[in-house]
Amino acid sequence: MSSQENTTGSPVEETSERSNFIRDIIIEDIRTGRHDGRVQTRFPPEPNGYLHIGHAKAICLDFGLAAEFGGKCNLRFDDTNPSKEETEYVDAIQEDVAWLGFKWDGLFYASDYFQQLYDWAVQLIKDGKAFVCDLTADEIREYRGTLTEPGKESPYRSRSIEENLDLFARMKNGEFPDGSRTLRAKIDMSSPNLNFRDPVMYRILHMEHHRTGDSWCIYPMYDYAHGQSDSIEGVTHSICTLEFDNNRPLYNWFIEQLGIFPSQQYEFDRLSVTYTLLSKRKLLKLVQDGHVTGWDDPRMPTISGMRRRGYTSEAIRNFCANIGVSKTNGVTQIAHLEYFLREDLNRHAWRVSAVLNPLRVVIENYPDDLVEEMEAINNPEDAGAGTRMVPFSKILYIEQEDFREDPPKQFYRLAPGREVRLRYGYLITCREAIKDETGRIVELRCTYDPETRGGNTPDGRKVKSTIHWVSAAHAVDAEVRLYETLFTKEDPNEVEDGQDFTANLNPDSLKVLSGCKVEPGLREAVPGTRYQFERMGYFCVDRESVPGQPVFNRTITLKDTWAKIEQKIR
Ligand code: ATP
Ligand code: MG
Repeated sequence: MSSQENTTGSPVEETSERSNFIRDIIIEDIRTGRHDGRVQTRFPPEPNGYLHIGHAKAICLDFGLAAEFGGKCNLRFDDTNPSKEETEYVDAIQEDVAWLGFKWDGLFYASDYFQQLYDWAVQLIKDGKAFVCDLTADEIREYRGTLTEPGKESPYRSRSIEENLDLFARMKNGEFPDGSRTLRAKIDMSSPNLNFRDPVMYRILHMEHHRTGDSWCIYPMYDYAHGQSDSIEGVTHSICTLEFDNNRPLYNWFIEQLGIFPSQQYEFDRLSVTYTLLSKRKLLKLVQDGHVTGWDDPRMPTISGMRRRGYTSEAIRNFCANIGVSKTNGVTQIAHLEYFLREDLNRHAWRVSAVLNPLRVVIENYPDDLVEEMEAINNPEDAGAGTRMVPFSKILYIEQEDFREDPPKQFYRLAPGREVRLRYGYLITCREAIKDETGRIVELRCTYDPETRGGNTPDGRKVKSTIHWVSAAHAVDAEVRLYETLFTKEDPNEVEDGQDFTANLNPDSLKVLSGCKVEPGLREAVPGTRYQFERMGYFCVDRESVPGQPVFNRTITLKDTWAKIEQKIR
């Protein structure tokens, strides 16, 4: 067990950067002098939820490529749907992008452009390229046709320009109820690309907007707002996920009709990770229905949840660089992400001693009142991290799991009559296990060898195991929260008829341990600090922690646990 601190887990190839076809496109654009060699990107979240690890991939691309080529990257809130958007999300998104280590050049909102978008819509009406339609949403869908059948033209398509201008102004002025009319582009109802079948540009929605209040009661649709917002900002490379592939021709169509700056859209593969879901809508449901404690629940794949769990931004960035960018969607193993987490924590987290399931050990031949200060190494991976002193005394706690009354094969830890090393302490031998009236082991009576201070054996005798401990009189009580994956299935969307993804929630995703014993230096552990509990895994101080009553989240286990070894040898 003792040699496991440095192992990192899954066999991921450690090439630092994978192929990235968007980088290749940018290099080519710079070479040919397109946009005078200027590179500008944007990250465009809709503020309708918290960012998740999928967004981190997009953020690393948008900000990373701009930085790599001396360009700019804006953070733009795509806030065109007031029914789902909130200021809480706007704030959280900014915090998460900054935490990931990126700085935006401009901070913009699509709602900044509502007037310009409106004026351009009027221009398209005047050019005969847009019309006000009175069909309901259902009728529009019916008229739209299918992939194999052409659509039918709206009976309102031939309205005069004057009538369209008048109706559109009255839509804006609030004369019509929600859903009664739309503004649609006049393109081609028989186009093989369904997005070209007179797409809706504006809908009526009498609803407070988190920034524009009740100034507007018509709101632009994504396809009309997005490209024009890119163009206004002078975005050269507008990077988005593959499902927008079919929207690209429409993106280009609006820009061409308006004769504005020719931003270009490029699509890359969406990140999916096993045992979790990357969809704000579904994550919102988990929050709203109380399946998790909030958006930053440490089990959530959100940036804020991962931060609280103990992920470092560097681990997330390294992961995003390693998965690369392609044109086909795939699924990434959670182990791949965890590999980069362990790798980073191993280099930076200080080692400390914490006993999660305490078992009292009394060292019978140790002086009653003696307390010795033992020198412990803070981080063997970082010589500069130095050492600290930890107290050793007659009564200690060790892990219940480190003792077996009847030890199985290959179990080398403590057992009756057996000697083990206490890390940074002494060699001790178990003499007797004391049980309570139910037969549960409540205390071990041991002896120590005073010649073995610091764990050395002057006579060269071997002990097969080194275990961790804390001094009972000095230990601090702590709460420790252990997490498993939030879902039991690799693909949580795989369900029986009539079920939804919540059917795959893991009932054992959270286990709370109280009465854990941690070394005294952790009494006032600062929220957000990450530690390796020796032999137990990586842990992070939770934000609910208070001085004297620390709370830890298990970020991740060390590579192999005894439970897995035991399974294999059975
Ligand atoms: P969700 O379905 O979770 O709401 P979204 O695509 O609607 O995601 P947006 O806020 O519109 O979320 O996304 C902002 C940017 O992040 C977009 O460019 C989007 O393509 C990208 N993005 C979102 N999810 C992923 C993902 N899983 N992998 C990579 N990029 C993503
Ligand atoms: Mg979206």
